[in-house]
Amino acid sequence: MFVSECLSVNDAGHLTIGGADTVELARQFGTPLYVFDEATIRNTMREYNASMKKFYNGAGLVAYASKAFSCKEIYRIAKDEGCGIDVVSAGELYTALSVDFPAEKIFYHGNNKTVSELVYAIESGVGRIVVDNLTELERISEIAASQSKIVPILIRVKPGIDAHTHDFIRTGQIDSKFGFALETGEALEAVKYIKEHKSVELKGIHCHIGSQIFEVSPFELAAEVMVGFMNTVRQETGIILTELNLGGGFGIKYVPENDPVPYMGYMEMVSKVVHDACKKYGLDIPFIVIEPGRSIVGPAGITLYTVGGVKDIPNIRTYVSVDGGMTDNPRYILYQSVYEALVANKADKPKDAVVTLAGRCCESGDLVGEGMPIQRPEVGDIVAVLATGAYNYSMASNYNRVPRAAAVMVKDSEARLIIRRESMEDIIKNDI
Ligand SMILES: *Cc1c(COP(=O)(O)O)cnc(C)c1O
Repeated sequence: MFVSECLSVNDAGHLTIGGADTVELARQFGTPLYVFDEATIRNTMREYNASMKKFYNGAGLVAYASKAFSCKEIYRIAKDEGCGIDVVSAGELYTALSVDFPAEKIFYHGNNKTVSELVYAIESGVGRIVVDNLTELERISEIAASQSKIVPILIRVKPGIDAHTHDFIRTGQIDSKFGFALETGEALEAVKYIKEHKSVELKGIHCHIGSQIFEVSPFELAAEVMVGFMNTVRQETGIILTELNLGGGFGIKYVPENDPVPYMGYMEMVSKVVHDACKKYGLDIPFIVIEPGRSIVGPAGITLYTVGGVKDIPNIRTYVSVDGGMTDNPRYILYQSVYEALVANKADKPKDAVVTLAGRCCESGDLVGEGMPIQRPEVGDIVAVLATGAYNYSMASNYNRVPRAAAVMVKDSEARLIIRRESMEDIIKNDI
């Protein structure tokens, strides 16, 4: 009935998540409120973990891409489920280490890691630094040498597949700010540099071809290109790479029309490509890493708002203003992302209205969505926007000096606060 299985409607006609009444949660914790269902997060992590056992004999790791939703509690859960994580900043790394996340299971990404971030990552002993470019490679090898360390790295490769849209394209030379190109010989040049520098140890290669991808074929093609490059590396340098990180990007259901491939199906199909390609080149199956972000937390989260006003513009549209917007979910203003919404306290009623959900900020573009089918909202109603678990809180801002919203985690119908609502003191805490 809903885009996520953790959602339902109770006898009171209220939307529930993980068995908890959302109207009650809004009353108890205030709005806007992010609500997560712990079982959904854990089940998805377990499913991915199981796929590693099934398709790679357990020789693999699921590294949750924590930029999708980063806070202490999600790192505790990932740790508990035996996952690795990927981080893209010192802030994410610091948060993860603050709850004793095992450093050796951390992948450090980014196209412009600062020197201080690299020093911090190396001192912390992160499992892999995923190197983006030659300048960075030189920096890492210098820092590592100065600390008398040998730093395990992956290099990020552009496999030449652009899957940022529904259609994917295979290009000769992909225009991307991330990673080393294959065609220009840049990637191979990096491998040769590493061979000459003992303070960096090349464990394998990484790619990440896009996000919210619904088809398996771009992933299959990427896997094939990557194993092909492992073979090139062996031929040209004699180095045998033992690790292949295939990134994230698996699509989720935001609206009922979305039809993502089940993750197990994806994992099975891609593993066939990896096995076949390795056989073709006479390579051992590498240790496989995947980095799902959105698909782990996205469907597990919703956002609750209170309706503050309804503005009917005859023959044009109805604006329904909520007490959040681009400050807690900038995805509409950034990408015109679509979401499903409903009135949580009228969840058993038919959706008899089509409205524009407007945020509270001083930007005309600050909308949660346009043309959204919904139960006719009235002032004081609680509106729920679904599948907001990924790239919402993590992209939140204090625009208009709006405090960031709180987040709660629901387990067995009980909610616990995992991120406090920002206070007015928080708003001015760095002002001098
Ligand atoms: C963003 C990102 C991911 C996760 O992507 P999702 O679409 O959220 O699964 C994984 N790896 C890297 C390197 C990324 O930048």
